[in-house]
Amino acid sequence: MTSTVRRWWQDWTQGAPEAAVARARLVLAGHAWPEAALAVLARLREGGHAAYLVGGTVRDALLGRDPGAEIDVATDLKPEQVATRFAHVVPTGMRHGTVTILEGGVTFECTTFRREGAYSDARRPDTVEFTTDPLADLDRRDLTVNALAWDPAAAALLDPHAGALDLERRVLRAVGEPLDRFREDALRPLRVARFAATLEMEPDPPLRAALAALGRPESDYAGATVAAERVRAEFDRMLRAREPSRGLEVLREAGLLGLWLPELERCRGVPQNRFHAYDVYFHSLYTCDAAPAAKLDVRWAALLHDIGKPDTRVDHGGEGTFYNHQFVGAELADRLLERLRFPLERRARIVHLVREHMFDYRPGWSDAALRRWLRRVGPDQVADLFDLRIADTLGNGLRQGFPTALEDMRRRIQGLLAAERALRVTDLAVDGRDVMRELALPPGRAVGEALEAMLEEVLDDPSRNTREHLLARLRERRVTNA
Ligand code: ATP
Ligand code: MG
Repeated sequence: MTSTVRRWWQDWTQGAPEAAVARARLVLAGHAWPEAALAVLARLREGGHAAYLVGGTVRDALLGRDPGAEIDVATDLKPEQVATRFAHVVPTGMRHGTVTILEGGVTFECTTFRREGAYSDARRPDTVEFTTDPLADLDRRDLTVNALAWDPAAAALLDPHAGALDLERRVLRAVGEPLDRFREDALRPLRVARFAATLEMEPDPPLRAALAALGRPESDYAGATVAAERVRAEFDRMLRAREPSRGLEVLREAGLLGLWLPELERCRGVPQNRFHAYDVYFHSLYTCDAAPAAKLDVRWAALLHDIGKPDTRVDHGGEGTFYNHQFVGAELADRLLERLRFPLERRARIVHLVREHMFDYRPGWSDAALRRWLRRVGPDQVADLFDLRIADTLGNGLRQGFPTALEDMRRRIQGLLAAERALRVTDLAVDGRDVMRELALPPGRAVGEALEAMLEEVLDDPSRNTREHLLARLRERRVTNA
């Protein structure tokens, strides 16, 4: 090895922060930043001001992840000054130094460099002190991996807390003393859990210890008082991760899960039966992991589908039965989602999936039974319910594979839906004008009766709902009537 390579290797293996910074600079300098981002930064810098990409934007670029919906920018300009430099701005939180800029179809969250004062309510700082020092601004951020700033024009990276190295090691570490940081903003523990899931990183031992300290019975941690909307937003992001179970487990291990999702926490240790390898809690987590990440509400339904089990368990010599747990679970889910202030429509959709998740299809079901089921569930919900069922099967840990009865059910439902498309007179391939013309009838009851007669025929055999066939039938009628 040449000496350079050896030094590089030593830095890598010994994890020198400077080497990590050097590698990060290479990645960031080669990153294809959106044109609009470079334009916004240039605009902010006019007149000798400072402007950096910060937070999740820099972090996600280094991780090679898809960027978030908003680009995070920080500057020494005051919010009012920022607002005057752009045509489309939203004064999101001027007092705290946040302006939203809309530029080139991209949304920017622009914050003024600041230090934060004391927090008396564990939510918002009592005072915000603006500063021109970007390093002071990075000190107030929650995790080292979020405390990076990048200036693309100067190719300058600020990394005062060795966040670049933590990104490589995949470690979540607090900026400064974790317990102090949690006292400032009670949402931060939940953010840690969310990032553990979305970034697939582990909290370092001091951060874990601090989380566990908050979870002890004697702790005065104010987690339960955080605004429900902020809590829901964090869980929504967590549930979009590849494996939400990573984040949920961080909370449970720290004794914090019960603050927000007590209905789920008490599933831990509730034993099931020979159809399951896991207790109700882990089954719920793995079902959630197995549900499609792009279907957030199916993910929620998967997480909550069995929360009625602890209340309905009856033990038969070690084997559990859980009759009606779906109805009890739907009630519990409804209250839980109301508590987290879910919009009504989402709440109804998730509760419906929980209530209907137990369908027990057999190929022996009659068409009438299947049609009744379809009416109750709603044709639009079938795909989600199937996704939930597949996840449920994957989440029992027995590796039984795909539930094949669902394939048969899906085929039959498609057939029924196709047939039901001709359920109403208005769905027929002919209309009243055709009837009047072919039968030489004036408008009146006889026209309706002729249409009804054709509907009967089509219900018996949906393939007859063609214009050609129905017109031929009308002509036959005319001949018979004449
Ligand atoms: P996302 O990918 O969800 O956008 P993010 O890390 O970018 O994650 P934002 O809410 O966009 O999160 O915040 C941008 C940055 O501001 C964060 O990376 C972090 O540095 C800082 N920040 C945001 N919220 C907090 C908080 N509650 N406490 C401390 N720092 C925070
Ligand atoms: Mg962001």
